[in-house]
Amino acid sequence: MSLRPESASDLLIDGKLTPGSGGVFDVVDPATEEVIGQAADATAADMDAAIAAARTAFDTTDWSRDHALRARCLRQLRDALLAHGDELRALTIAEVGCPSFLTHGPQFEGPVTDLGYFADLAESYEWTRDLGTAKPMGLKNHRELRSEAVGVVGAITPWNFPHQINFAKIGPALAAGCTVVLKPAPDTPWCAALVGKVVAEETDFPPGVLNIVTSTDHQLGAQLSTDPRVDLISFTGSTATGKKVMAAASESLKKVFLELGGKSAFIVLDDADIGSACAMAAFNVVTHAGQGCAITTRLVVPRERLDEAITATRDAMAGLPAGDPTDGGTICGPVISARQRQRIESYIELATSEGGTIEIGGGRPADKPAGFFVEPTLISGLDNSARVAQEEIFGPVLVIIPHDGDDDAIRIANDSPYGLSGMVYGTDEERINKVVNGVRTGTMGVNGGIWYSADVPFGGFKQSGIGREMGVAGFEEYLETKAVARPA
Ligand code: NAD
Repeated sequence: MSLRPESASDLLIDGKLTPGSGGVFDVVDPATEEVIGQAADATAADMDAAIAAARTAFDTTDWSRDHALRARCLRQLRDALLAHGDELRALTIAEVGCPSFLTHGPQFEGPVTDLGYFADLAESYEWTRDLGTAKPMGLKNHRELRSEAVGVVGAITPWNFPHQINFAKIGPALAAGCTVVLKPAPDTPWCAALVGKVVAEETDFPPGVLNIVTSTDHQLGAQLSTDPRVDLISFTGSTATGKKVMAAASESLKKVFLELGGKSAFIVLDDADIGSACAMAAFNVVTHAGQGCAITTRLVVPRERLDEAITATRDAMAGLPAGDPTDGGTICGPVISARQRQRIESYIELATSEGGTIEIGGGRPADKPAGFFVEPTLISGLDNSARVAQEEIFGPVLVIIPHDGDDDAIRIANDSPYGLSGMVYGTDEERINKVVNGVRTGTMGVNGGIWYSADVPFGGFKQSGIGREMGVAGFEEYLETKAVARPA
């Protein structure tokens, strides 16, 4: 089977590839602004059919109890997708604008391979736990705990790391025994639709277990969040939309699992190697044009070494290859859309109007007349109360902020509505540990440490979200607990 773009213009509903009732919509390559194909445009009626199929598959089949079938289907899907690796990598670069090197990691191969981790969990998880006997109200009872799938999961995802986020939801949800309706972002429909095609044509997933609904209509996400046939909403996206999802889900009291925004701090202690710290900070924010929720976008450095840090960061940013995402050496490709570029540019203007200095970048690259490119940008001269230090920009924009010692650095890191990730550079273990313990975030790296892995739970404190994705904790988000007791 070939996964040419024209073969991606179908929905997957009840095991069948079907056109969208709303026709098709254009898919645009963010590096060229060219229309590269179409995707199916679903309507509310299509979403209704997808939810009905997922409900029926959950209620009337053995899917949730057949751990071996689920593991087998997930491994089949992993192997089929990896066999199409070259085609899928090329289509992902074209649709997402992500640098090619990332498709060998989190933009394709990593999350596809991780389906195997969730398949293993389906088989190895302790589905029943013996609690032994106790004497509630004086009567001896034997108790056990059983874990059961939550039911129908509505998965709503954004465009920045589509494969990573789609598979971090459907992998554990399906492994746990749930059935799923996936609604990807309209900017990146192919990454999901091609998975639908592979599921339908190359795997044994029973009909209705996984449904994929691409659409330009954001309200289909709202429909999924409201529909009482859906038991859990697993959402990744902006904090503003996450709040709407939670409110919509409250009508039917469904569980919500939210992965939202971030404004993470990269803390450099005064005993750190400033050169390597700033090089890493520059690399983090420039990679994939800063379009990652866990990217560290505030660089918090010792005040007495501010000038040195600005120079080191600026030099590092200038040296990172930016441009054509199909080039294996590119680190910074385009951002996803004209709208997103406009948003980033308005934040850069705002920084200047608030008294900030643009140390490098700030505009569009002169050699890129087409494509949604933004120059890697470093902003200085502002403190942590500036809007560009408080709000998520989602572009290759780093704000450098001075601190007056370790406690002040922790205070600055925590002075944010978000709490998703962070980094600390230093040499003294005790001081590093104090920072790791003091910063209220779901993940922390030390001296360039990378926590991203299938077995590491990822998620946020505060307004960065509710719950954890990946790892055993991420798998358990899709489970309910049932306590069973009998007289002993
Ligand atoms: P978004 O919130 O605009 O959209 C995300 C998804 O929600 C899309 O599929 C969209 O169609 C859908 N949606 C829109 N309105 C909806 C509604 N009212 N009800 C239900 N669904 C609705 O986000 P985006 O612009 O696609 O992505 C960028 C944002 O995602 C950034 O803020 C980023 O930080 C965040 N993000 C977070 C994580 C994480 O794991 N924490 C990962 C990636 C991206």
